[in-house]
Amino acid sequence: MRVVTVGTGMAAAEFVQRLRLDGFDGEIVMCSDEDFAPYSPCVIPFYLAGEPLDTVYWKGKNFYDQYRVTARLGDPVVEVDAERNLVRTAAGRSETYDRLFYATGARSWYPRPDWLQTTGVFGFKTLTDMVAIDRYVRKQGITKAVVFGGGFIGVDAALALWHRGLEITLVHRNTRLLSQMTDEDGGQFATRKLAEKTGIKIRLKSTVEEITARNGQLASVRFSDGSTMETALLIVSIGVSPNSEPLRGDDKGVPSDPQMQAETGIYTAGDVAVTRHAVTGASGIYATYPNAMQQARTAARHLLHNDGAFSGSVNTNVLKKHIDFPIVSAGSFSGEAVTWQDGDIWRRVYLQDGKINGYIIIGDTRMSGYIYQLYLSRKRVDQTILKTLSAPQHDSYYRSMLGLGGSAMAMA
Ligand SMILES: Cc1cc2nc3c(=O)[nH]c(=O)nc-3n(C[C@H](O)[C@H](O)[C@H](O)COP(=O)(O)OP(=O)(O)OC[C@H]3O[C@@H](n4cnc5c(N)ncnc54)[C@H](O)[C@@H]3O)c2cc1C
Repeated sequence: MRVVTVGTGMAAAEFVQRLRLDGFDGEIVMCSDEDFAPYSPCVIPFYLAGEPLDTVYWKGKNFYDQYRVTARLGDPVVEVDAERNLVRTAAGRSETYDRLFYATGARSWYPRPDWLQTTGVFGFKTLTDMVAIDRYVRKQGITKAVVFGGGFIGVDAALALWHRGLEITLVHRNTRLLSQMTDEDGGQFATRKLAEKTGIKIRLKSTVEEITARNGQLASVRFSDGSTMETALLIVSIGVSPNSEPLRGDDKGVPSDPQMQAETGIYTAGDVAVTRHAVTGASGIYATYPNAMQQARTAARHLLHNDGAFSGSVNTNVLKKHIDFPIVSAGSFSGEAVTWQDGDIWRRVYLQDGKINGYIIIGDTRMSGYIYQLYLSRKRVDQTILKTLSAPQHDSYYRSMLGLGGSAMAMA
């Protein structure tokens, strides 16, 4: 059997590794538009913050050799021809398959794609982006930057460059940073604390409207209030869209069944896949690393053993990078809010019928694995939740409450 993957990202690498570890002996071809061994986008900001490049290769730099993979790199797949069981690439190659694993992730969305023609304007999504930013900062001796977009990836970008010693201005159109992973109060708290702890200048309810260049290099940006700022580095991270066109013809993602099949013989997973939420059942793209892993493992198991089903995605968000100020959330922020705050720590759970609907934990997140399990279990917690939120316990306490080793805590 010949297996082809479109993408060499986190989902595809997990899928291929699972196949090989489970004894699959057929041919495997992995296709990517980039030119690297599989890397972790979660880790690439650490490279920019000063860690060695090799740390991004989460399954080893020799992955293709180790797992006997033919790698077709630097050539995007532009079409999946499901009738003929083949994929076509931009360079005119084609690869036939018996089974296809389609995991192309998502790409940055740019309000003004033409800005990228200007030296000093970058996205913040791929290792290609990080290598280019790193080289530019070094060569030009860049000391300050504007980051446009204060969602998860924008904050990650701002903190990575701040950690590297740059002076950062973070521009976000909403009333608070991390607006998708917080409610208003939690987001305001996180925004205030991040500003206090880092000195990053945060401009809320603001956008970058225009840029000016000198000899092709970024010179300044103009904000929506008309003010301007000189800078030679602009990172644009205001959103992503799924790379589903080669398979679906549009960028709305790839709907999948519980076996992670888009159609018979074509599996999908990760940031391009549309799945159901484990708690609410709502269809959507739940673009996190743990979801991608579970989906890829489901697909590998089904391909090899024709059994198993994906239990559903969870919209967990875990921001624990570059600074000792973690922020974790999941679920939906509606229902009765139960809040506990002490200094730099802020914790809120939303309850409905006594069960957890969603939660936000900021500053000290060591019980977040426990809250996550309570959320998934749908147990009534209204009698005890305030005590849990305010408890100054250590990880080991919660692990013993769950009767677990370390895994639940590691995930959250
Ligand atoms: C900066 C950053 C930080 C992140 N931090 C976290 C975090 O802390 N925690 C967390 O849970 N998640 C995080 N994420 C999200 C996480 O990385 C993704 O959920 C995960 O990588 C999804 O895996 P994937 O395989 O679907 O996509 P990716 O890992 O993005 O891989 C997609 C692959 O498809 C390839 N590709 C795309 N289009 C084509 C094409 N047309 N032809 C061929 N190949 C193609 C790409 O080159 C790549 O190899 C972060 C993401 C970014 C960008």
